[in-house]
Amino acid sequence: MKSLSDILITQIRNEGPMRMSEYMAACLLHPTHGYYTTRPPFGTKGDFVTAPEISQMFGEMIGLSLAQAWLDQGAPAPFTLAELGPGRGTLMADILRATARVPGFHAAAQITLYEASGALRTEQASTLAGQDPQWIERIEDLPEQPVFLIANEFFDALPIRQFVRDGDGWRERQVGLENGALAFGLGPAQPQPALAHRLEDTRDGDMIEDSAGLAPVLSVVADRITTHGGAALVVDYGDWRSLGDTLQAVRDHRATDPLDTPGAADLTTHVDFEALITACAPCTHSRVTPQGVFLERLGITARAQTLAAKLRGEALESHIAAHRRLTHPQEMGNLFKVVGLVPADTAMLPGLET
Ligand code: SAH
Repeated sequence: MKSLSDILITQIRNEGPMRMSEYMAACLLHPTHGYYTTRPPFGTKGDFVTAPEISQMFGEMIGLSLAQAWLDQGAPAPFTLAELGPGRGTLMADILRATARVPGFHAAAQITLYEASGALRTEQASTLAGQDPQWIERIEDLPEQPVFLIANEFFDALPIRQFVRDGDGWRERQVGLENGALAFGLGPAQPQPALAHRLEDTRDGDMIEDSAGLAPVLSVVADRITTHGGAALVVDYGDWRSLGDTLQAVRDHRATDPLDTPGAADLTTHVDFEALITACAPCTHSRVTPQGVFLERLGITARAQTLAAKLRGEALESHIAAHRRLTHPQEMGNLFKVVGLVPADTAMLPGLET
């Protein structure tokens, strides 16, 4: 079978260099060779470990925040309980367990998942057996009703375009060929009206990124929340107005060259929270809050102590390490950020402030 590298080299030979967003989309979601479509990337055996795979406490805190927001908004029924990029389904399963005793919440919740990978849909179906989850093909299919939504490490997996400043114009970073192998290059300098605001804070040679997929998804979520009520929690790593090349390739828990093994390494980028918040208008958004602060405010330490009381030996040690990993500023606590969205003039989700 041809490798994805061979397929892309042939395509570039025939059609010319491709944008970074096209390259990322092929690497992650190619129907037969894509990273997410062909392998289970999660857990200690996979390439990376996400917060819900570290400890059940992460999903429990998210579940309580969403359920409290639902109560604060008058417990609308029915409503969509949605997740973008649900991975193995672990986070949704933890949310459901933590909210089982919230009166009326499960009866009113219609679980809706947005997932591009067929292999992961199968895994989600098995994790959530008995919960009747539905999958939507397009984000526009998010039902016209109140929605309470979580997206953890979803937006960092969306394809981005990269641009290098050249005078008042920008040269787009492309994937082309050099001596028959995949290589980065730059397109011609062109004006980019959508990047006008970045002329303020960049100099010649600086690279900036534009998440091509972010606004189309968030604008639909923001529309449902504004029209019908609801709330969203977005958790991801990134910065305000990110600057520089943040594309990372990880294979077997190690950084690798993004062009080396297309389709076999995970590709992620930092999320630009300024772009994220801009795309959420007219929702009210919270401050961009470190994950550790958010989880502490929701009571993760008290929960950790309750769970610890039943554990001994190695299980206790790994539980303590998991709590530290999720919350400590030098681990995920500061690197990952949380943003909450609610309709204008509505109480913010617990754990966050406007
Ligand atoms: N939220 C999970 C998984 C994060 S990995 C966790 O925290 O463990 C990213 C997830 O988003 C995977 O489930 C991946 O298949 C999905 N995904 C990536 N790009 C997507 C896209 N364009 N549309 C829908 N789902 C996508």
